[in-house]
Amino acid sequence: MGRVIESPYLPGAGPWLRGNLHTHTTESDGNLSPQAAVDAYAALGHDFIMISDHDRVTPIGQLDARGMTLLQGNEITANGPHMLHVNAAAKVEPLRDRQAVIDTVTALGGMVIMNHPNWESHFNHCDQRTLDMLRGYTGIEIYNGVTLRAEGSPLATDRWDMLLSQDRRVWGFADDDNHDDIDRGVCWNVVQCASREAEAILEALRVGRFYASTGVVIDEIRVEGSRIRVFSSNAQAFHVQCDHGCTAARVNGSELDFEVPDTSSWRYVRVECFGPGASQAWTQPFFLHS
Ligand SMILES: [Zn+2]
Ligand SMILES: [Zn+2]
Repeated sequence: MGRVIESPYLPGAGPWLRGNLHTHTTESDGNLSPQAAVDAYAALGHDFIMISDHDRVTPIGQLDARGMTLLQGNEITANGPHMLHVNAAAKVEPLRDRQAVIDTVTALGGMVIMNHPNWESHFNHCDQRTLDMLRGYTGIEIYNGVTLRAEGSPLATDRWDMLLSQDRRVWGFADDDNHDDIDRGVCWNVVQCASREAEAILEALRVGRFYASTGVVIDEIRVEGSRIRVFSSNAQAFHVQCDHGCTAARVNGSELDFEVPDTSSWRYVRVECFGPGASQAWTQPFFLHS
């Protein structure tokens, strides 16, 4: 018997909506007012954004959304590793006990994304032990835009593979974390979602029905039996990653057709797409069952 592939994606090509969940404004240390930030993201063609000022739930009700869907949020900052509070009904106190923070966010109907684990000169803003011990967060930033020009690494797929290899169900997010103009449109999340309603977008994020990108466009992700197929308009190569950061396959081209071997004992595979320049996209993991 072959392996059974659990895919977070729906059959069919999209529809896809693009958004950024990590946006600072003049309500904390961003350079644009909340309305100007919304305007700037609308001009980029985004479909949704979340304003995430530091330890402050910036009101969005009075903003002109410019056709986008606005999500209420903030970045829980003081006293510990930074975490996004997605769908923030109210401010949650940034207690040192981050597990208590996650539990409160979850009880309020929100989601937590652990931010930029590899930020700072020691590349260790959130150490792996903390990521391992905390429970109930939805995902981690596998790419954090502002860290391109800050100390450490924007990329944190290493942390992700360590979690996934322990059977943790955490999704990979790519967020600008924009503070200045140069940070805007560096990366984004693309949800497979037929509705532009906030609730529908949040549900897609909650169940991992999205991919993360710095420029590679994925048109369709298809699972057929034991094969995973990815169709892109601008990818030039793919890496299939599996447990503990191992690379199971490297394929050139704009389409991937990967067969999961019957004999593999992998917990998961995920696909990294490489495009022009330094652009990439990352699918969510496909969990494998016997
Ligand atoms: Zn932060
Ligand atoms: Zn931030």
